[in-house]
Amino acid sequence: MSTASDSQTIACMKCKARCCRHVALQIETPSCKRDYDNIRWFLLHKGVKVFKDHDGEWLIEFDARCENLTKTHRCGDYENRPKVCRDYPASDHECEFGSERSPYKLLFTNAGQFEKYLDRKKIDWRWKKL
Ligand code: SF4
Ligand code: SF4
Repeated sequence: MSTASDSQTIACMKCKARCCRHVALQIETPSCKRDYDNIRWFLLHKGVKVFKDHDGEWLIEFDARCENLTKTHRCGDYENRPKVCRDYPASDHECEFGSERSPYKLLFTNAGQFEKYLDRKKIDWRWKKL
């Protein structure tokens, strides 16, 4: 019988280890001008993304390849990998990168995209210029 972890193993074998090529951290749901401006600032940096996931959480993602990742897309220090790697994906979830659905409900890769999103939502994010 095929199990969720069997299908996860198959997904991992086909994948080029997307989970080992970035760091993502949860951030506050933006709700004020300071939050909007901080996200604009994050997004002015190359290799930084901000996204909202399908659970409604907001996260910042840094493109950053793990130093343990080998050329064959395997973990080079599997026995000593951090707990966060051991626990991913959670036992009741398949990896969001292994499924057909994008892991991102909203994705911003530069400040202009985020500003347009705020404008579309009619959110007043601009500071008064002095
Ligand atoms: S956990 Fe997900 S991203 Fe990581 S190797 Fe497996 S399918 Fe790819
Ligand atoms: S320690 Fe291993 S499993 Fe964890 S991110 Fe690095 S290469 Fe991937």
